[in-house]
Amino acid sequence: MAAFGSMSIAQIQQGLTNKEFSAREVAEASLARVASADEKVHAFLEVTEDLAYRAAARVDEAIASGNLAAAGPLAGVPVAFKDNMNLEGTHTTCSSHMLEDYVSPYTATCVKRIIDAGGIPLGKLNMDEFAFGSSTETSAFGPTCNPWDLSRVPGGSSGGSAAAVAAGMATMTLGSDTGGSIRQPGSFCGTVAVKPTYGVVSRYGVVAFGSSLDQVGPFARTVRDAALTMNALAGRDQLDCTSQNVTCDFTANLDQGVAGMRIGVVPEFMNAAGLTPEVKSKIDEAIGKLQDAGAEIVEVALPNVHAAISAYYVLGPCEAFSNLARFDSVRYGYCDPGHKDLGGQYEGSRAKGFGEEARRRIMLGSYLLSAGVYDKYYYPAQQVRTLITADYTAAYEKVDCIIAPCAPRTAFKFGEISDPTEMYLSDMYTISINIAGNGGMNMPIGVGADSGLPIGAQLIAPAFKDENMLRVAAALEKIYGEAPVAPAFADGKVGE
Ligand code: GLN
Repeated sequence: MAAFGSMSIAQIQQGLTNKEFSAREVAEASLARVASADEKVHAFLEVTEDLAYRAAARVDEAIASGNLAAAGPLAGVPVAFKDNMNLEGTHTTCSSHMLEDYVSPYTATCVKRIIDAGGIPLGKLNMDEFAFGSSTETSAFGPTCNPWDLSRVPGGSSGGSAAAVAAGMATMTLGSDTGGSIRQPGSFCGTVAVKPTYGVVSRYGVVAFGSSLDQVGPFARTVRDAALTMNALAGRDQLDCTSQNVTCDFTANLDQGVAGMRIGVVPEFMNAAGLTPEVKSKIDEAIGKLQDAGAEIVEVALPNVHAAISAYYVLGPCEAFSNLARFDSVRYGYCDPGHKDLGGQYEGSRAKGFGEEARRRIMLGSYLLSAGVYDKYYYPAQQVRTLITADYTAAYEKVDCIIAPCAPRTAFKFGEISDPTEMYLSDMYTISINIAGNGGMNMPIGVGADSGLPIGAQLIAPAFKDENMLRVAAALEKIYGEAPVAPAFADGKVGE
């Protein structure tokens, strides 16, 4: 049986149109693939077999009545969702004991749009607990392994979403990104990974971490597949008042090349301490190739970007502290039995339901928002946010897109980074984009000379010009080739 998760959207749809296979066969083979490959990878927390077959049946009916278009632009595509996205009737655990038994009574808009577009939902994907982390090591249900090297992390927090695509289990998956959680795992696992501009995709039904920072986006192996997914995802949703009326076709300029485009290079990023030589040299190489392809390379400064991590680790925990207050054993979440009063029940349930990193963020947020402390941290962090946003606005007067590293290094080994502050630094290249709100994406550009592991270029677009970064990504894809399935999982292999 064909490895459908390794195919592109266009390949799957061509096969369906030519009746080489049915959507039911796609579902069957993809579920079998997950059952075998995921023993090694552990990307999935729940497999949604019934939903997959039901979705496939709808696609097959549309094809039988001679109307593949009616089945939707993602008809027959095997997809999966990060486990902080509600899908009616499935568990939505956020990889936390707190929500281990929680079953979604409704479906998130982003998930609904993918299924309505004809996607075949294979299941829910592992993540760092409540999306706190950069490695999936904080998942209460055990980490996901990087398909390129099973002894290494896939990145995080959307590690399961990246690994499922990299291992050829799904053609496309969704993740969420508050400070880098789509782009950094995309870079570690070598997949295209898009964090759209804040407001492009509805967050309704996605468990909130930092409401002013969170955004949903796709993982795929090709730029076109990511852009097609963006078309299905983007746009106004009455249920999320921050969602905008975006109607652009994200595939429109993928073939235009970069000739005449102005692409920015940021000295603060390229000269940062902590950037490994193999990543730096790959990014420099990509910059050279874009120049050869006709782009004008322009140096732009982001003078306040060094303060992004500090600001984020104030703003993020403050918002998380507020958002996670609902997990109190009464409104939502695990209830610790045997307490005589409500205060004791709250305390016991939250102490046992949340893991260490979640408790750290909640306590940090609680402290930072307390009287007397608020003025010293939260308020200046908001001012830094204004400065960083102004830096990007000024830069985009000179350029159409920025290129930077996505992560300072390639995927690390399990347990290699145990100090939380050191872990926070793995987001040094991604966080400022969430702070400013514009779009950013990872584009795989081959493997590192020292590590042999995937390296990604981060492309950063002006707000609501996400099509600019997709255009540059498509040009890089022409140069470097499409992102492959990880070698040990290619051609139907399962990690041998
Ligand atoms: N790694 C960052 C953190 O731990 C970002 C997480 C995210 O984007 N969800 O907060």
